[in-house]
Amino acid sequence: VVAAALALGLTACGQEAKGGSRYRPGGSGGGTVGIAMPTKASERWLADGRNMVREFAAKGYRADLQYGDDRVENQVAQLENMVAKGHRLLVVAAIDGSALTDVLRRAKEAGIGVIAYDRLVLGTPDVDYYASFDNARVGRLQGRYIVAKLRLEARADERFTIELFAGSPDDNNTRYFWNGALAELRPYLRRGQLVVRSGQTALNQATTLRWDGGTAQKRMDDLLSTYYGTARLDAVLSPYDGISLGVISALKSVGYGGAGRPYPVVTGQDAELAAVKSILAGQQTQTVYKDTRKLARQAVLMGDAVLHGRKPQVNDVKTYDNGARVVPAFLLDPVSVDRGNARILVEEGYLKAADLGGAL
Ligand code: BGC
Repeated sequence: VVAAALALGLTACGQEAKGGSRYRPGGSGGGTVGIAMPTKASERWLADGRNMVREFAAKGYRADLQYGDDRVENQVAQLENMVAKGHRLLVVAAIDGSALTDVLRRAKEAGIGVIAYDRLVLGTPDVDYYASFDNARVGRLQGRYIVAKLRLEARADERFTIELFAGSPDDNNTRYFWNGALAELRPYLRRGQLVVRSGQTALNQATTLRWDGGTAQKRMDDLLSTYYGTARLDAVLSPYDGISLGVISALKSVGYGGAGRPYPVVTGQDAELAAVKSILAGQQTQTVYKDTRKLARQAVLMGDAVLHGRKPQVNDVKTYDNGARVVPAFLLDPVSVDRGNARILVEEGYLKAADLGGAL
């Protein structure tokens, strides 16, 4: 029944697409592109959506932008709808990288191109290209920052405490960030210079479902009360600004940030406004700036090429094996940002000086 309904939907919408009632006359001759983003709860995804809609429009496409509210079933339904409406291309930042196999198979059967955006879609051959950042490098920048900031090389006979946070277990990026960071931290963990008092050093002990800041705050509360007491925590590996904010709230509630008790080194990712403010205020220490305007541009270039039957430009054809195929990728470069170089965010127009309250 479902298949029949879907087939009917496809026919009806296919006709409508040709008839053009769905399309604005002029200006959108390229047809409609479906953009499935994970959540509106984080600035970056709002900007990603906006940027892609604008870039696609400049190339003559209309965009159907949907946000899944971090619920897998919403995103699947949104993609099913896009297929049924006869959109020509799907650009997807998956909520759960492994949950899209069926709907993408239907997209492929309908001749619709699929681009994985930022997060790789797993376990399906039906994803054509991947536009992202060098995700292992994101993790390396976070790990390396902790090593440098604590001056672990110069202080080889001192010990430091650290706790480790990871992203959502269903996001493929999570293990890339984690592995990248741990590659930098592991030598110091091995020789006992970095100590994880909780003992929670396995990825599955450190993950944060759906990257939720509240969940991270709760875990940090528990770690502090169970394993620290009066002992000082020197560093927190955090993979994302929203998690860092949760971690910092927990730290604050036990007195960090007060007189004589500076915050630990806390990393992050995305250069979100709140995080950059926190960095300038001496709370969060670092973030990883990923210029999502460039990512949107790259995904649109890829999509446009696919729709014109051309091969898009890629710069990585070996890293991103999704279990069904190695997906050709274009990876952009992430940049580590702290107080010392936060100015580049304003210089590059990523954030506005006024929004930072003149703190720069
Ligand atoms: C993205 C990060 C983002 C995180 C949470 C990841 O897949 O690569 O930029 O911080 O999701 O939204």
